[in-house]
Amino acid sequence: MRTVGREIEQQVSTGSLPGWDRVHELAEAGYARYRDDDEGTVADYIPVLGAADPALFGVCVVETSGARHAVGDTEVAFSVQSISKAFVYALVCEELGHEAVRDRVGVNNTGLPFDSVIAVELNEGHPMSPMVNAGALATTALVPADSSAERWERIRTGLSRFAGRQLTLDGEVYRSESATNTRNRAIARLLESYGRIEHDPLEVVDVYTRQCALRVTTEDLGVMGATLADGGVNPVTGERVVSPDVCRDTLAVLASTGMYERSGEWLFEIGLPAKSGVSGGIVAIAPGKGAIGTYSPRLDRAGNSVRGQRATAYLSRALGLNVFASSAHVPVADVRPSE
Ligand code: GLN
Repeated sequence: MRTVGREIEQQVSTGSLPGWDRVHELAEAGYARYRDDDEGTVADYIPVLGAADPALFGVCVVETSGARHAVGDTEVAFSVQSISKAFVYALVCEELGHEAVRDRVGVNNTGLPFDSVIAVELNEGHPMSPMVNAGALATTALVPADSSAERWERIRTGLSRFAGRQLTLDGEVYRSESATNTRNRAIARLLESYGRIEHDPLEVVDVYTRQCALRVTTEDLGVMGATLADGGVNPVTGERVVSPDVCRDTLAVLASTGMYERSGEWLFEIGLPAKSGVSGGIVAIAPGKGAIGTYSPRLDRAGNSVRGQRATAYLSRALGLNVFASSAHVPVADVRPSE
């Protein structure tokens, strides 16, 4: 990513968000600024995703107070895809604890694409990161349950608590991915060969494919992220979903690996833990303040939404969310996705 400077009023990472009107105004500005941006390509390796309308664009800022700022197509549903990895990880951390998840799944960036098989081989079967497919499959397998049906239901219920409403499966996406996910099946078999997956690998792939096919809206992403920003309490329902320690651990993992092999650039430019998915969603979390959910199906080569990255970068700067900024800091810039 490269930046092109443009001045705006100064904000820093400490403190709190500006008042409701100002946050709303900036959410609208972030949307308007990138609405006509048509860089990137819609993912089609899962066939049904290729049919998404590339014009769709939603931005939703959710504050830890529960206040919401929704602009654009924020009520359009799409499959959560890889963003589910962050929330299933949090649920598993809550159940198994810091050490177990760290040892069994890892907290490092593989530096390789999310569906890399080589990454598994290079690390002798250790998935390294819960945010790539190998680590996400290993994480899903750790959800305590007596059967795959129970595991799936626990994931669906858990992610629904993050969203503050019942999430449902997009059957079309699930069937489309199930028919084509040979690579994920291969990764699960590879983990099995290294003794890294305790259940039937293909059943784990099936539960993972379902979790990726849960339908969410941009607004849901904002609420889910704001729950992590709020120490595990959903700011809309008031329900505690996970502990503050789990939020801290999850956000640390998102900072290092949430944007795949582009996580370093993302952190450098935007300075927020975040997670993206191939259907075009991104959620970025500002601890203690809130979260930004975005949705736009055109992606860069790493699989991150182009408009989502740019709008989030704008809002991170304008709202002073960069967690590394310790003094009033400079420009608002257009972020150029990696080539
Ligand atoms: N379900 C997708 C897969 O396993 C999720 C990938 C993603 O969103 N990056 O390939």
